[in-house]
Amino acid sequence: MSEENKSWAERSEKVFIGTYARYPATMVKGEGCTLTDAEGKEYLDCLAGIAVCSLGHCHPAVTAAVCTQAAELVHVSNLYYTQPQTELAELLTEHSFADKVFMANSGAEANEAAIKLARICAGPDRYGIISLAGSFHGRTLATVAATGQPKFHEGFEPMPEGFSHAPFGNLNVLEAMITDQTCAILCEPLQGEGGVRLLEVEYLQAVEKLCRNHDLLLIFDEIQTGLGRTGTLFAYEQLGIVPDIMTVAKALGNGMPIGAMLTRNEIAAFLVPGTHGSTFGGNPVACAAAVATMKIMLEEGFLPGVQEKGEYLQTALEGLAQKHPGLATGARGMGLIRALVLTEDGIEKGADMVKKLFDKGVLINFAGNSVLRFLPPLIITKEEIDQLVAALDEVLMECSS
Ligand SMILES: *Cc1c(COP(=O)(O)O)cnc(C)c1O
Repeated sequence: MSEENKSWAERSEKVFIGTYARYPATMVKGEGCTLTDAEGKEYLDCLAGIAVCSLGHCHPAVTAAVCTQAAELVHVSNLYYTQPQTELAELLTEHSFADKVFMANSGAEANEAAIKLARICAGPDRYGIISLAGSFHGRTLATVAATGQPKFHEGFEPMPEGFSHAPFGNLNVLEAMITDQTCAILCEPLQGEGGVRLLEVEYLQAVEKLCRNHDLLLIFDEIQTGLGRTGTLFAYEQLGIVPDIMTVAKALGNGMPIGAMLTRNEIAAFLVPGTHGSTFGGNPVACAAAVATMKIMLEEGFLPGVQEKGEYLQTALEGLAQKHPGLATGARGMGLIRALVLTEDGIEKGADMVKKLFDKGVLINFAGNSVLRFLPPLIITKEEIDQLVAALDEVLMECSS
């Protein structure tokens, strides 16, 4: 590790609780798809802060919106109305199935709001939420309980009551798990953290039907898939499904912390003054960033461009899998959430591949203990995709033995 990066890393390790295993770089600047560390080394960022900086780092329109708003009004609490908050809620409802919005500061908080809404809506004794094995819904106690990966529960038990997990993609077992206590099914349209795992459209449509037949709410966690990541503003639009409740966060503020829970009027009506709230939720600066972000994503040609570049990346990744069959079996994803699926040998070397790419100045991650995951800024160019693929090809070559 070079000197400047090292001294910041050492200072950081001394004072931080060790919840994160970090790469040895202290990032100081971002522009477009490029990050620069304290030593001046540049990185091609194909993670975008984990699907957050979808317009690239420091997009001028978002930066301008943040600066302007920060000079006008930073915070007033939710005891009063603010303009950026209202504008953002109007944009979200105009461009989705929803009529109403609750604003939070993160994905987990948006999911907490969804869980509370589902429970209050269902009435007494109906509190059960079924989610899927392999899912990820957040790190608060309720959202970690909803998360279908035991490794996130370990050591933190007992988990809050009322959460169960159905096997991935198995409709019969899911239906058999529904009881009189069940109030909702919570799922990601495509599992992000779980390893870019796609659920079949037929399965998701059948889940929607189950919800209608059993009077359950369908909650879509679009925290990672939402805001253009899959090539439409929200992934549900491509599935012929309309959820009852949807949560978004990550890319909404292009880096400013913000999350939201969206639903229809008749469901929203159950949350009245005093039932739920947040001090910072809907903060004017975060909302101004989100308004600027959404306006750009809604410009003509932006979302089709994501589809097109997503297919370009898919084809390139499939080519790499063919070239390196010992390490990769194929590629999958939607839009610009993509994965290179690894073989058993590849999985063993997955973390090492990510480190080797890091050393070459390309940022990606190893997800679900099964795939290399790519979440580049949606503004990435084909030339930058070529750069990623070339670096990945070199690393796969180095790892073939
Ligand atoms: C990241 C993520 C969350 C949690 O969001 P935070 O902002 O980290 O709380 C929840 N669900 C999904 C699908 C996510 O990708």
